Amino acid sequence: MDGAHPAEPRAGHSRGMLSPGHWTLWRQRGSLIFYVFLVESVALVATVWTAVVVPVRLWDLVVLAVLAVLGVLQAELGRQIERVRRLVSDTPHINLTSVWTFAGVLLLPPALGAALVVVLYVHLATRSLARIKRVPPFRTALNATLVVITCYAAEFVLHRLGVPDMYAALTSGWRGVTAITLAAVTYFLFAAITIVPALTITKRTVAAFFGGLGDNLLEVATLCLGMLTALTLATLPALAIAIVPPLLVLHRAVLIKQLEIAATTDEKTGLFNTTGWHLLASRELARAQRSTQSSFGVLMIDLDHFKLINDAHGHLAGDTVLRAIATTIKNAVRDYDSVGRFGGEEFVVLLPDIGPAAVLAVAERIRAAIAALEVEYEDGSQVRVIDALSASIGVATYPDGGTAVDRLLQAADKALYRAKDAGRNKVVDGTAIA
Ligand code: GH3
Ligand code: MG
Ligand code: MG
Repeated sequence: MDGAHPAEPRAGHSRGMLSPGHWTLWRQRGSLIFYVFLVESVALVATVWTAVVVPVRLWDLVVLAVLAVLGVLQAELGRQIERVRRLVSDTPHINLTSVWTFAGVLLLPPALGAALVVVLYVHLATRSLARIKRVPPFRTALNATLVVITCYAAEFVLHRLGVPDMYAALTSGWRGVTAITLAAVTYFLFAAITIVPALTITKRTVAAFFGGLGDNLLEVATLCLGMLTALTLATLPALAIAIVPPLLVLHRAVLIKQLEIAATTDEKTGLFNTTGWHLLASRELARAQRSTQSSFGVLMIDLDHFKLINDAHGHLAGDTVLRAIATTIKNAVRDYDSVGRFGGEEFVVLLPDIGPAAVLAVAERIRAAIAALEVEYEDGSQVRVIDALSASIGVATYPDGGTAVDRLLQAADKALYRAKDAGRNKVVDGTAIA
């Protein structure tokens, strides 16, 4: 998994790389600097040691060249896809390079595997990604080094199991299959674990870094393709080129998934946008219509006098408040409830499988949580606090409040305006009005 993301100011540019005094690295936390040196030292010692102990054959050099060429080719052909992907998404995970590096684990002596990682990452840093997003060199170097260490961990497993490479696996029957599989599992786990100490660089949460099921399946898929690449190179080397087209399709599939997410997500808060929320609401409606007992709730939440917040603290502080409100609402509901933002300072919540009384209780919980919220924001060098926030909430429940999504929203909206008229900071049940 790749930590080299997202963009940072032009700090640590190639010219700065030659003058260690200017490295972005020195501006990181002490423990991170220690981790970087630890990792780089371990990789260096391991590389020198394996270079001395493990002999290199001419054929290994040929395989190294082939993997490097294929990796560069794939990155070049996928450049356009990656450029669009990075425009719509901030996910750091897409690193199809493991197809080649894991194939290297299965075919090459460890030191040559490390050389492959270096070639591929130098190419990525200088050519494919350099003009897309600028990342301080120390981060690229750290990522590459973590991949090297991950490769060594997987190779260590292979050696312990007495199947040093794919050539040996071909004649080892089930033992070979087991060893290769365990090497892949080790690679997967090591790649995930070694990146954790680096999380602080991009201030991502552990959950965001490990990504969802989809991201992890992608990592699994790249490792499987790496296995097939190694198998092909060990048996019918000329066919290895056949790995590149499916890899590009895989890359494109990731892009499509991320475009889908971008099309249904509100950029400011990360909540569902109108489109995304309506999709889920229609699905929930269809589900509720199929079962006679089912009921679900819709909440419409509008912040009270939000314009005054903007006027008093500025639009940027207003945006910070909107993000805090989004988090507050999410924390006040269940995991499978869907929170959306319909633009402005208007939020909607879909509460599946819940009766009218419980819907009102959730609305009241959200109202109270918003009223208790204190939002900090930075005003120059000062940290200021915005409190005394409140919201008015309109509630509607299927089927009594309406039997179509739009009717429910209308009922909730009507109730919301009743709440505003009644003095704000209130929950009003629209089902009674409808
Ligand atoms: P009330 O709802 O209680 O009647 O008063 P209000 O001041 O909240 O009124 P209204 O809903 O009409 O105004 C919404 C304000 O929200 C106007 C606009 O300046 C602000 N706003 C809308 N979208 C955004 C945004 O994305 N960021 C920020 N900071 N402010 C926004
Ligand atoms: Mg408002
Ligand atoms: Mg409004």
